[in-house]
Amino acid sequence: MLEIGTHAHPAPHQDALYILLHKNQVLIESEERFLIPFTGFQPDANMRAVYCGQWLSADNSRQDVFVCRFENMPRGFREIGLRELLFLQNEANYLLLSRAHQLSTWDRDHRFCGRCGTEMRNRHTTEHTKICPTCNLRHYPRISPCIIVSVKKGNKLLLARGTQMQTDMQSNIAGFVEAGETLEQAVAREVQEEVGIQVKNIRYASSQPWSFPHQLMVGFFADYDGGELTPAPGEIEEAAWWDIDNLPNIPSPVTISGQIIRQHALWIQQNPDK
Ligand SMILES: [Zn+2]
Repeated sequence: MLEIGTHAHPAPHQDALYILLHKNQVLIESEERFLIPFTGFQPDANMRAVYCGQWLSADNSRQDVFVCRFENMPRGFREIGLRELLFLQNEANYLLLSRAHQLSTWDRDHRFCGRCGTEMRNRHTTEHTKICPTCNLRHYPRISPCIIVSVKKGNKLLLARGTQMQTDMQSNIAGFVEAGETLEQAVAREVQEEVGIQVKNIRYASSQPWSFPHQLMVGFFADYDGGELTPAPGEIEEAAWWDIDNLPNIPSPVTISGQIIRQHALWIQQNPDK
């Protein structure tokens, strides 16, 4: 498990663990080794290594973890997508790789100050912050909140299929939070925009980092409050109310979407009159 902590960030060293990326893919040596970051790796002078935290092993030993990104595919490795790793159902490893990927992307994409254009050379020593040497503007890793919501009406759940989704899958309404908006406002707006109905009793369910490249999915439950289902053209292919005893193909329970649909269906089963 990864411990983030607030201790001083060390420089890369020989005894650390290294997560290696090629573009947006994770590098692995063989099927057996892909969940273990590499040891004995040492980045060369041209390679940027970003500190991620300390890996706490089952025997309570700690090792520093760094992430490095190759621009050209090195020999002797295979690459695997973060999404595929999510489906291996090892949450601690998925969260580590998500964090590594997000920090590495931030490091690569914030090489110059967005306000004055100065090159960002020095990093903060105890937190992931770059401070511009000319204008002092601070740059933090980018995290983009998105809401995802399961809506119920009696013993039915709202499920929809976006234009980008595979044809045999139905899922939740989801979308990015706008600047200046609360999460609850984003839930109500997205549902209204995508399927034309109003919701009430919006409550928090759970969250999941979704590092493709830097979303944080924030899950909610809500109740139907009014309106007719009207899929937004060009965004939603179909939307319908599904009886909880007869749900279609829904996302895997490793995804927050799959989790909140199943939790909501179970809640309705246990509270049939609410
Ligand atoms: Zn600046």
